Amino acid sequence: MPIQTTNPATNKVVKSFNEMTEKQVDQAIDNANSTFSSWRKTSFKERATLIHKVADLMRTKKTELAKLITLEMGKVFAQSEGEIDLSANILDYYADHAETFLADKKLNPDSGEAFVRSSPIGALFGVMPWNFPFYQVVRFAAPNIMAGNTILLKHASIVPQCAIAIEDLFKEAGAPEGLYTNLMISGKRSTGLVEDVRIKGISLTGSEGAGASMAEAAGKNLKRSVLELGGSDSFIILEDADIDKTVEMAILGRMNNNGQSCVASKRFIAVEAIADEFLEKFTAKIASLKVGDPMDANTQVGPLSSEEALQGLLDQVKRFEKAGAKVATGGKRAFEEGAYMQPTLLTNLKRGEPTFYEELFGPVASFYKVKDEQEAIDLANDSPFGLGGSIYTKDIERAIKIADQIDSGMIFINSPTASQPDLPFGGTKRSGYGRELSEQGIHEFINKKLIRVS
Ligand code: NDP
Repeated sequence: MPIQTTNPATNKVVKSFNEMTEKQVDQAIDNANSTFSSWRKTSFKERATLIHKVADLMRTKKTELAKLITLEMGKVFAQSEGEIDLSANILDYYADHAETFLADKKLNPDSGEAFVRSSPIGALFGVMPWNFPFYQVVRFAAPNIMAGNTILLKHASIVPQCAIAIEDLFKEAGAPEGLYTNLMISGKRSTGLVEDVRIKGISLTGSEGAGASMAEAAGKNLKRSVLELGGSDSFIILEDADIDKTVEMAILGRMNNNGQSCVASKRFIAVEAIADEFLEKFTAKIASLKVGDPMDANTQVGPLSSEEALQGLLDQVKRFEKAGAKVATGGKRAFEEGAYMQPTLLTNLKRGEPTFYEELFGPVASFYKVKDEQEAIDLANDSPFGLGGSIYTKDIERAIKIADQIDSGMIFINSPTASQPDLPFGGTKRSGYGRELSEQGIHEFINKKLIRVS
């Protein structure tokens, strides 16, 4: 895949970039490695000053950066601005809290005195996706830079200008060379870098295939890795849910980011007492969504990230139909020009069909009517993925009991799964392993060093 900006609203190529040569990549790894030796000795205060500066610059340049996001991957502009705000908040959060999170932990051994010190491990290699081009990078880079590690970042090939803009923010804030480096290389070349002894840890957010190949390389080279992969989150609606509010949440959960979020609500599961009412209102709402130019303030759903993504999704919908699914609304390309998909609702999906287990990465919801709570839980768990999920009811205790029985990394009650700086993010099963954000996220690439005094 060439590294280039193609505006998905028009499918026109805007700008192309050359990949870095082997020699340039080698130099970048060298810089990251040698900068680690000095960066690890800096104080938390010094690191925090830099990271706050990056956050401030991000806020100052919000409009320009948000426009880049929308240009390269089609996010509705107001949501792109929201992504910049969230990313700046994550930077500030770690600048403010890293020292506390990584403070020495005193132990009480039978003899002697001992404590655990959290030490950084070195240059880390991140491979990140296009769907939240700033947020995905920042949630990996901010905790690790605050912890004393250095970062090499290979961004998705369709968001090169966002990738460069992030590196520029660090440079403008005064980061030493090698602290944060953008690696302009293709996905194919990423696994090869894992072997490099100067790289100490790997983090990937993206597809199962890319995750598996990076994890395989990390395993072979005995390096730590964090993977954040796909999801097929359930959205469970119980008898006592407020249906109108729940429909609003369902639209937010499925259509935010034009449906391209790992933690989007993807499988809508309603118990039979309210299933028909929910389905009728949800279908009408999906059909009424305004699809169009992501820069237009009235647009609710913009294009997919690329024509290739659109073709993949259209093909999936066709395969689902062949397997017996019915299109309640949508199902087609929205316009001749641009990678636009009609917001779509599928019903009549069958458990056991291979399609049932696929993730739909776009504005396509699937709906299931179930007998009761137990059937809802069974269906929710009948998935290779285990990222997020949500439950809608007035009975919070009941919802917490249900949450306990769902195999996923995150369950939200009465709102779709979302991300905030102070809550852990990550999954189980084929959605990956490890956690990002909150206090937990900063401990992934740390050497927990025991120091004992006799
Ligand atoms: P990919 O997994 O292909 O892309 C994510 C990142 O991984 C990109 O930087 C990509 O680089 C890189 N990459 C691709 N192949 C490899 C490889 N073999 N080894 C190492 N790195 C690699 O995702 P897609 O963009 O193709 O999206 C496909 C699917 O991935 C979606 O339908 C969705 O299921 C999932 N996905 C999940 C995301 C999430 O937030 N968890 C985000 C995006 C996608 P390059 O761009 O150069 O190929």
